[in-house]
Amino acid sequence: KVVTRFAPSPTGFLHIGGARTALFNWLFARHTGGKFLLRIEDTDRARSTEPAIEAILDGMHWLGLDWDGDTVFQFARAARHAEVANAMLESGHAYRCYATPEELAELREQQRAAKLPMRYDGRWRDRDPGDAPEGTPYVIRLKAEREGESVIEDRVQGRVVVRNAELDDMILLRSDGTPTYMLAVVVDDHDMGVTHVIRGDDHLNNAFRQLGIIKAMGWPEPIYAHVPLIHGADGNKLSKRHGAVGVDAYRDEMGLLPEAVCNYLLRLGWGHGDAEIISREQAVEWFDLAGVGRSPSRFDFKKLENLNAHYIREADDARLAALVKSRVETRLDISIDTDGEALLTAAMAALKPRAKTLDELAEGALFLFETRPLSLDEKAATLLEGGATALLEKTGEALQGIVDWSVPALEEAVRQVAEDAGIGLGKIAQPLRAALTGRATSPGIFDVLALLGREESLGRIGDQIK
Ligand code: GLU
Repeated sequence: KVVTRFAPSPTGFLHIGGARTALFNWLFARHTGGKFLLRIEDTDRARSTEPAIEAILDGMHWLGLDWDGDTVFQFARAARHAEVANAMLESGHAYRCYATPEELAELREQQRAAKLPMRYDGRWRDRDPGDAPEGTPYVIRLKAEREGESVIEDRVQGRVVVRNAELDDMILLRSDGTPTYMLAVVVDDHDMGVTHVIRGDDHLNNAFRQLGIIKAMGWPEPIYAHVPLIHGADGNKLSKRHGAVGVDAYRDEMGLLPEAVCNYLLRLGWGHGDAEIISREQAVEWFDLAGVGRSPSRFDFKKLENLNAHYIREADDARLAALVKSRVETRLDISIDTDGEALLTAAMAALKPRAKTLDELAEGALFLFETRPLSLDEKAATLLEGGATALLEKTGEALQGIVDWSVPALEEAVRQVAEDAGIGLGKIAQPLRAALTGRATSPGIFDVLALLGREESLGRIGDQIK
């Protein structure tokens, strides 16, 4: 049975690369009917923070990536990590190293000067621990294989081989008894029964080191899939400027829907034919490791925005209204009551086709909640210059006569005014739009009239006639 995991270090926000790793692990588990686990790697006490943990959990919820069982916190398992290090000591797969920091600094200096790779030289590997003076602090190091090579049949990278001579005897347990990251990952993955390690390819080198511990313990090797990292549109490493901000910014600042972000992340590094729009159900059905590409993917915000526009059009109106509400409230410094919510919901059909983000959706809805007399933007003001107000007045009069305030009735009345004046509908729609919304762009003018209602529409028209 497949068990995957997402193992973020809570040292910063949940960034877009992490979210994609989580998504791939989640999809693979759901596709195979296996389990998806979450482990917070908070072993680095100095850099792990509570807000970062919150941001990760929050981001996972938002993206709809539910995990099985309890969240595992790595630091809480420190005693178990030490236990394994000691077991390796017992079995001869690890040894105590009493080298002092000064000694090691000197070694590094010599290697640097000789242009040699910086590596621990194994000076305590075969020495009698009794050589160290009583009470000297020590670390526990892996007695790494020196001959031969290590091989990983990576599901994404293919066959990767490293000569064992290139791997030094890494530290498992520090002198204060705390585990290193390498040890903790391996022990936790084993104890959690992880079968597939799917993560960024910046961890590929670590995998060989981790394998050394796994072999020493005689544990089963997991299947590895190291996914190429996400790069910026310019091909450089992803930076803040490219979108390497927290997932919360995708939600709050960029106004994206989680299904759009998931769809985008899925396509960023994985493909199924030329399918671009892939629902969650479809993704669960199709996801496999064979579809993960080998080259780094480029982050393309335009593409993400276009997907978001698609999912906005697909989304339920009441849900969108609820998401947009607070944005409108903040922008206008008002509070929207239940009537307002109903209005916002009713407006979605007209607003949705025009918006790529929730912010644009909110922007489009502002006119509904602005109060009379509207202040016109520059373009709208221009539209009401010249003979426009006379036309507007005529239109107002025609609308006064309408009892059934519905789109077909409104349309008929306005068309009649245009016909009588011998002009195109646009000539009337533009000043009408300016008067009703204070803007030169809006949803279709009959939708605008219907949404505002009779009294408000006639009032706004009247405001511009005097
Ligand atoms: N905690 C590591 C990170 O956030 C991931 C470890 C792993 O996936 O093996 O980069």
